Amino acid sequence: MKPFFDLSVEEMKSYGYKIVDLIVSHYEHIESKKPVSTASRKEMDTIFLQEAPEKGMPADKVLDFVMENVMPNSNISSHPKAFSFVPGPSNFISTMADSLATGFNIFSGGWIVSPAAAELEIVTLNWLLKMFNFPVAQGGGIFTSGGSMANLTALVTARRIKCGDDFSDAIIYLSDQAHSSNIKAIRVLGFKKEQIRIIPTDIEFKFSINKLKNEIAKDRLKGKKPFCIIASAGTTNTGTVDPLDVLADICEKENLWFHIDGAYGGAAILSKKGSKILQGIERADSLTVDPHKWFFQPYEIGCLLVKDASWLSNTFSEKPAYLRDIEGNESEINFYDYGIQLTRRFRALKFYMSIKTYGLETFKEAISYNIDLAEKTEDTLRKSKNWEIVSPATLAIINFRYNPLDLNLSEETLDKLNQEISARVVASKEALLVTTILQNQIVIRMCLINPKTTINHIKETLEQCNKFAIEILEEWKK
Ligand SMILES: *Cc1c(COP(=O)(O)O)cnc(C)c1O
Repeated sequence: MKPFFDLSVEEMKSYGYKIVDLIVSHYEHIESKKPVSTASRKEMDTIFLQEAPEKGMPADKVLDFVMENVMPNSNISSHPKAFSFVPGPSNFISTMADSLATGFNIFSGGWIVSPAAAELEIVTLNWLLKMFNFPVAQGGGIFTSGGSMANLTALVTARRIKCGDDFSDAIIYLSDQAHSSNIKAIRVLGFKKEQIRIIPTDIEFKFSINKLKNEIAKDRLKGKKPFCIIASAGTTNTGTVDPLDVLADICEKENLWFHIDGAYGGAAILSKKGSKILQGIERADSLTVDPHKWFFQPYEIGCLLVKDASWLSNTFSEKPAYLRDIEGNESEINFYDYGIQLTRRFRALKFYMSIKTYGLETFKEAISYNIDLAEKTEDTLRKSKNWEIVSPATLAIINFRYNPLDLNLSEETLDKLNQEISARVVASKEALLVTTILQNQIVIRMCLINPKTTINHIKETLEQCNKFAIEILEEWKK
């Protein structure tokens, strides 16, 4: 019989080894590549747009085409000069672990289908619960595709446990610095605009507590039902951690669900400085962390932790007849009962293998290195008369702008100038360095969670910025 999809052993080996070689070579030469790639839809269409081919072609030819056209047309988020958004430093062990999980195509939904996959998810979640001082016996969690899905899973759970079926008067509170995925999740859940309170932040970008208390009190007077506060443990803009203990006190007093979005900053718990800043994180009812950010995992792996695992099963378990044979006993967790997905890839494997291989110690050192590097960057910037710090180094994020002492540039000029500096750096493709807006100022933002990034990489990029700034100001004079 003609094989449909099978390759011979020799073909599989030669194809597979070729791909391993390509990945290794990417790791080896990453520094000599450019982190930025830009292409228009038209350019991409010219290369790729075609009907699904009826006849196949040699596997090597397809691979060559992909290597020539796909990989170079993507930003390299693990590049040491990828400073923007939240970089994805990744690591080689997890990269290979993901290949293994995919190669064996392990179904990570139910215990009976793969007891070891469920067990590794339980074990690695226990490691995380312990890291964040959550109760390991009663607590629980689930790996998701990312922070957005973890936040969504958390808010479904919060609503279910706090409001039951009727959430028509329920009110949810978050700050204007909370990540957009929270608003998305709230919308997915079907809350109306009138049920969302976006609370302004103070000059340090933290939840304004007084304003929050005012809103809660007003809502109570109106007969509404406050049910949840979303705090940020490391905002994406500035790395700022909300006053977690104060917010936890409010939640206790007001009987509100306390969700902490630690997708960006949660991992900093592994460093001394981070764990101090994250004081109070252990008081959350639910906590989002995002291993594909600062736990150095390749995409996709996010994670939700909860104080009480039964909250998840009470929210998500359904008992359809076709799954009755795989139910098993309670300690044998079916993760399809803990979240939205039934069929799930085996995300725990990469987390497990990388921590077993490198040891937690390596993660701790890398995260501490990142935090220190951002502080060094701040020192460097403060020593220069050209730069102004807008938000100091916080959990490896720093925001600054070009604002030379002697020039007295207007706010409008500064905005235009900093925007243009960033645009020229990106256009050079040497570094991925984009802007954000803080207190109505356009500022340059660096997120330094890549352990491959050194102070020299940063200095090179700052020199480039200085050079462009002078160029731009010269051009504007003409
Ligand atoms: C990145 C991020 C998210 C979203 O996580 P994804 O993994 O991109 O879905 C949510 N919250 C914060 C604070 C983030 O930084």
